[in-house]
Amino acid sequence: MLVDEVLVAAPHVRYTPDYVEADYCYETNTVQLEPSSGRAVVRPVLEKYTFRTQRKVPRVGLMMVGWGGNNGSTVTAAVIANREGITWRTKHGIQTPNYFGSLTQSATVRLGSMYGSDGRFEEDVFVPLHALLPMLHPNDLEIGGWDISGANLAEAMRRAQVLDYDLQLQLEPYMAPLKPLPSVLYADFIAANQSARADNLISGSNKREHLEKIRADIRAFKAERKVDKVILVWTANTERYATVLERVNDTAENLIQAIADSHDEVSPSVLFATASILEGCSFINGSPQNTFVPGVVDLAIQRGVFIGGDDFKSGQTKLKSVLVDFLIGAGIKPLSIASYNHLGNNDGKNLSAPSQFRSKEISKSSVVDDMVASNQILYRPGESPDHLVVIKYIPAVGDSKRALDEYESEIFMGGRNTIVVHQTCEDSLLAAPLILDLVILAELAERIELKRDGEESLERLHPVLSLLSYLLKAPMVPEGTPVVNALARQRLCIENILRACIGLAPENEMRLEHKRR
Ligand code: NAD
Repeated sequence: MLVDEVLVAAPHVRYTPDYVEADYCYETNTVQLEPSSGRAVVRPVLEKYTFRTQRKVPRVGLMMVGWGGNNGSTVTAAVIANREGITWRTKHGIQTPNYFGSLTQSATVRLGSMYGSDGRFEEDVFVPLHALLPMLHPNDLEIGGWDISGANLAEAMRRAQVLDYDLQLQLEPYMAPLKPLPSVLYADFIAANQSARADNLISGSNKREHLEKIRADIRAFKAERKVDKVILVWTANTERYATVLERVNDTAENLIQAIADSHDEVSPSVLFATASILEGCSFINGSPQNTFVPGVVDLAIQRGVFIGGDDFKSGQTKLKSVLVDFLIGAGIKPLSIASYNHLGNNDGKNLSAPSQFRSKEISKSSVVDDMVASNQILYRPGESPDHLVVIKYIPAVGDSKRALDEYESEIFMGGRNTIVVHQTCEDSLLAAPLILDLVILAELAERIELKRDGEESLERLHPVLSLLSYLLKAPMVPEGTPVVNALARQRLCIENILRACIGLAPENEMRLEHKRR
């Protein structure tokens, strides 16, 4: 049976019409190192928490910056195809729409075990992740957004060359009326080769006026589509890094002033993030650039609005954050990781410019740092594997990105192990479900509050929403807190926080019940 909803029957979990409230024991350890003796002294800590989650799922609008791009048009097309139940003919037969690749829609978690009346174990029960708590369904999203290209979404879908021809034909009437709102283009933030498609721009060069226009767009969308909340996702082209400057983008106040002054270092993505935060809308950055300059982070913290980033973790990096975790976790020492990509879509064209490539190179490079730092048997402090990232633009492969990786590792007694991987990553078909998950999880996070025993009031999670790390290549975390890149740990974090919201202990895989005589 496919479970739709999980209900916990326990006195420490309370369901009211508005909330599910759970008392929860959170167990961690604090550690002290004693270098003189080589000992670590551990103190187990047990803290009592209350989690409270609103049960009513609101009507939600998703506004994408870069709506007319490959990702934006694919997300939109897929949601319409699923919502309308459109099936299409391929050379393999009839295909039905689905949400494969979405953690919330197509992945399951183990809830517990079923036992027969005689007490014998029958089976483990797995449920969809979305059944743990009331969650937004992607079919219910209201979708809109901006693009510097004025092509309607049917043209954008054709240009992207992602979806099967028969599906495109059937989607045409739904997609053609959808037209992106005009956006902003500032010199040299994206590659010069993008200017040819920039025929849909907000007029003028005054950045304060641009900010106000974007804020007005968000408010109008909210009113027209009758949604309770809007979430913004940057899925526009990768920008160059913005220079972080004192008195420009280092604090919220300076950033607002820099926008008023139309300062050159205010990028389009910073402008959208600022507009989003000022409108109280969570903002997610799906590209690698440093949209979250200190001034933007400061503003998000001041306003208590969620921000999540950076850069969707879809193909090569996702596998890397599994493979390196496996190698180092097995006590094997990766010595070098060489990653080559070639892709032929518009993202690849933009990344063929050096400063935009540099943003991607940075976000792809830090992905194994936490795993390396976790094992001082294999790596001395400061030591790390050689790590190379190459990206080339090859128009012929279109959206079907190729990723080639070689992992060279040191094994037992000076031996070597080489793993070579070749991936065909249908880029936008991998990224689109991540966009949906990011929105669904950010929206859910907006309904979760928690407090430790003794604290007066319930509070939301930190505005820098590191819960989303699983979906992002270079996860942003609150200052001074650890970054986790290892995919399995990132997934456990999501699963266990959702379990905590309904008063269930973390999944620990001990399975003691099956290990005794
Ligand atoms: P794309 O080039 O097809 O789409 C980007 C869209 O953004 C284009 O339509 C472009 O006209 C528009 N755009 C550029 N600047 C804009 C602005 N200032 N305002 C509004 N629109 C603007 O690219 P894509 O394949 O959809 O990827 C989008 C982004 O996601 C890229 O930055 C890419 O690096 C990132 N990303 C993609 C993947 C993936 O697997 N597809 C993974 C990680 C990150």
